[in-house]
Order: sequence, then structure tokens, then C-alpha cells
Amino acid sequence: MAVPKRKTSKMKKRLRRASHSRPLPKVGVCSACGDPSLPHRVCSSCGQYNGRQVLTVSVDD
Ligand SMILES: [Zn+2]
Repeated sequence: MAVPKRKTSKMKKRLRRASHSRPLPKVGVCSACGDPSLPHRVCSSCGQYNGRQVLTVSVDD
């Protein structure tokens, strides 16, 4: 069985794992109200998706 010749140093291990973090979720802008919303999701502030009303959102003014 193949065995590593040298112990992987802390620096080498940390440098390798530096790119292993999950990317942050992309945030888009709602085309109806302009508020930030996740892409391919119903907007939580106006309840619209792809130009039509999907959810009824209670408006508290
Ligand atoms: Zn919206």
C-alpha cells in the first residue's frame, strides 16, 4: 500500500482547504419591486414570480 513519504504540513493542509468553502448564495433584484431576492424564487416582499402574482403578501403600512 502506498504511504505518504512526508507528513502534510499545517500550511499545505490549510492552503489546500482554503478553496473548499461553499460560495455565498447569489442575490438578484426583483424585476417588479426592485428589492433583493434570490434568483428562481418567489420574491418575498411583493410575492411575484416571472411577472405574475404567486403569493398574497400582506402589506403593513
Ligand atoms: Zn418583488
